Amino acid sequence: MQSAVMWRTALRCVKANCVFAHRRMSQSPSSLSGKVAIITASTDGIGLATAEALGRRGAHVVVSSRHQANVDRAVNLLQSHNIIVTGTTCNVGKAEDREKLVQTAVDHCGGIDILVSNAAVNPFFGNIMDSTEEVWDKILAVNVKAAFLLTKLVVPHMEKRRGGNVVFVSSVGGYQPFPALGPYSVSKTALLGLTRALAPELAQSNIRVNCVAPGIIKTRFSAALWENEDLMEDFQRQLCIKRAGRPEEIGGVIAFLCSDDASYITGETITATGGMGCRL
Ligand code: NAP
Repeated sequence: MQSAVMWRTALRCVKANCVFAHRRMSQSPSSLSGKVAIITASTDGIGLATAEALGRRGAHVVVSSRHQANVDRAVNLLQSHNIIVTGTTCNVGKAEDREKLVQTAVDHCGGIDILVSNAAVNPFFGNIMDSTEEVWDKILAVNVKAAFLLTKLVVPHMEKRRGGNVVFVSSVGGYQPFPALGPYSVSKTALLGLTRALAPELAQSNIRVNCVAPGIIKTRFSAALWENEDLMEDFQRQLCIKRAGRPEEIGGVIAFLCSDDASYITGETITATGGMGCRL
C-alpha cells in the first residue's frame, strides 16, 4: 500500500518535471519554432548562412534568389540539415517577383513572421564622380527601394500574426564608404536610416525593425577585397580580430535579432566587423 503511494508520488513528480522541462524548452527565448522567415538572396553567402541559423532554431525558412538552379541547391542543402524549407526564385528588383515571394510564404507556410532583407547589387567600381544615373537607379532600386517595398508587402501578414521582425543587411561601408564603392556605400547608409524611420511606426504593430552591418565577410560578393593581399593587409590593420568574417558569424547575429532574446531591441544596427571602427 505504502509503496503504491510512493510510486504514484514519484510518477506525479516525473510528469511535473517533464511538463516543466517541455515548457522551458518551448519557451526558450532563442527559439524560432513555429515562425516563418523570408530571407532574400539566400542561396549563397550571408543569406544562406542566415537561413541555416534561423532554420536550426526551428523556423520554416523561405529561401530565394534569381536563379532556379541556385534555389534548388540551397533547398537540398538545408533539407539535408533537417531544416524545414521552401524555395522560389525572386529577383528583389522586380515587383512581380517580390509579390510571388510573399504569396509563396503565405500559401506554403501559412503566414510570415520574419523578413531578412539581404539582397544587394554593386554594378560600379571607381570614382564616385564617374558614376552614372543608371548606376544610381540600379543600386538604389535593389539595395534600398526593394528592401522597403518588401517590408510594405510583409507587414500586413505580420500584423495578422500580431507581430514580427524585419532585419536589413547593411554594411560597414554604410558608416565609412569603401574606396571605389561610393554609390553602394551610400545605399548601405540609407538602410541605417530606413531602420530608424520604420521602427517607431511598426512598433505599434509589435514589429521590431533592426539592421546588421557586416565587415568584410568571406563570400563571392566580396572576393575582390579578400583575394587581394595588399587590400586585406590594409583592412587587417583596422581589425581587432585579424581575419575576414564567416557568413555564419552574421547569420547568428540576425537569428538573435529575430528572437525573443532581442525583444527590447528595435531601430538598432549591430555592427559585426571584427572590431573595425564604425561611426557616422
Ligand atoms: P554572395 O555570397 O555573393 O551571395 C549573393 C546572393 O544574392 C546569391 O544567393 C545570389 O543568387 C543573390 N542575388 C544577387 N542579386 C540578387 C537579386 N537582385 N535578387 C535576389 N537575389 C539576388 O553575397 P554576400 O556577401 O552574402 O552578400 C549578402 C549581403 O551582405 C549584401 O546585402 C551585401 O551588401 C552584404 N554585405 C556583404 C559583405 C561581405 O563582405 N560579403 C559585407 C557587408 C555587407 P542569384 O545569383 O541566384 O541571384
